[in-house]
Amino acid sequence: MKKIIIGNWKMNPSSQAKAKKIFLDIRKKASVMQNVQTVICPPFIYTNALQGLVTGHRCVLGAQDAFWEQTGSFTGEISPFMLAEGGVKYVILGHSERRAMGESNEIVSKKVEASLKMGLKIILCIGELSRDSHGEFFSFVEEEIRESLRGVKRKDLKDIIIAYEPVWAIGNNADRAATQYEFIEMIIFTRKVLADIFGKKEAMEMLIIYGGSVDDKNAEEFLLAEGSAGLLPGRASLDPKKFNKVLEIANKIK
Ligand code: PEP
Repeated sequence: MKKIIIGNWKMNPSSQAKAKKIFLDIRKKASVMQNVQTVICPPFIYTNALQGLVTGHRCVLGAQDAFWEQTGSFTGEISPFMLAEGGVKYVILGHSERRAMGESNEIVSKKVEASLKMGLKIILCIGELSRDSHGEFFSFVEEEIRESLRGVKRKDLKDIIIAYEPVWAIGNNADRAATQYEFIEMIIFTRKVLADIFGKKEAMEMLIIYGGSVDDKNAEEFLLAEGSAGLLPGRASLDPKKFNKVLEIANKIK
């Protein structure tokens, strides 16, 4: 199974010219990585320009969000229909930075359903804000999984990737990355919740990836975690040197 490496550029870089340069540097490496599916998620405004640089299937585009309706009076929104029409293949939904701006599990679930309808592959972000010694954070993650996937049918699960992104491990203010053990524990827990909703076979087949301060230094430990399907780097995906090293590491893992 190919490892999946998803770069979340967030609201970067500051110009289209820079975006093209970073994308081309990454594409060059990604296009020779046989064992890796690379997905770059730029800001919406760069999508068309970068789509023109996509060649083949090894390095494709994703989006960082999508609305739950396909067209209409929704000022400022971008629909899954528009994304699919523009050549986008994947969409990140429920990222913690969007949840922090008020996105609820209910909203995420509507976006998941609308995006599935348009044939997009979903990268569903889950993860606790902080950890407590009693393990209460597991209930928080369980609620995110159950509510965000409400309305999803078994047959759609093949188009959903779960990204475990503990919020305390994301971005410049992160305390640290999670440990391999913490990721493995969450993979097992996520599968248990999924088994409960959809059945054991479906839960075992689900792709689960890790995000949160991933770079070329710690990528291998998360890729080698039992049950890991890949990574979702943020900051490191804007640095082609670091990101391409992550791709190389992933390419060597069978
Ligand atoms: C992210 O934005 O999803 C992320 C994991 O960011 P970073 O790698 O910069 O912590």
